Amino acid sequence: HGRSGGIVMNDDWPGYSLDLFSYPAHYCGDLDCVFIPHGMIMDRTERLARNIMDDLGDHDIVVLCVLKGGYQFCVDLVDRIKALSRNSNRTIPMRVHFIRLKSYLNDQSTEDLHILGAEDLSFLAGKNVLIVEAIVGTGKTMETLLMHVEAFRPKMIKVAGLLVKRVPHNAACLPDYVGFEIPDRFVVGYALDYNEYFRDLNHICVISESGKMKYKI
Ligand code: 5GP
Repeated sequence: HGRSGGIVMNDDWPGYSLDLFSYPAHYCGDLDCVFIPHGMIMDRTERLARNIMDDLGDHDIVVLCVLKGGYQFCVDLVDRIKALSRNSNRTIPMRVHFIRLKSYLNDQSTEDLHILGAEDLSFLAGKNVLIVEAIVGTGKTMETLLMHVEAFRPKMIKVAGLLVKRVPHNAACLPDYVGFEIPDRFVVGYALDYNEYFRDLNHICVISESGKMKYKI
């Protein structure tokens, strides 16, 4: 529908020096750069909320938050939609449901994808569903999830993804709402983890080689 693929971060974007921002001291030495500062994420999220409101205003929606990485984006996006709902005549009544996907070990995608909390999604039948995901890489995860959700016959499914990676074999299906298009680098922060670390970091950052070593399983 003519919507953009988000803010494009080019392959040669070096990020910002860590010295220009504040971040938890316990991650000192574990990061290469601040790739997307927290404020920028919030500004982009505010606009995504408006786009969603423009498209879906006056529809009831079920927000399907994909844990764990999607929790912060989901909270902030729902918050902005709520703000728009109370400040205009159009509103979106929302329910929020949580499911958990797991497929990564270290920084590598594994073949077997586990969906938890999605055993019975029959309440989605006839509903408008907004899937909220932090990041789409190859798109395999999203594809699997979409197939799973479609089986419960919702009226409509839209996907909001904060980050979409430019990877060699990008799947055909992209989110309807994209925050940022980023190079194929492993990023952490803003609830995105590396073996459960870095969720407590506000900015989206690139992990350093020593950081990878330090938290490797
Ligand atoms: P895909 O199936 O699209 O290749 O991978 C999607 C999933 O892999 C995401 O839901 C996320 O859990 C994980 N993932 C992909 N790239 C990154 C990344 O750069 N950082 C983190 N923390 N997770 C990633």
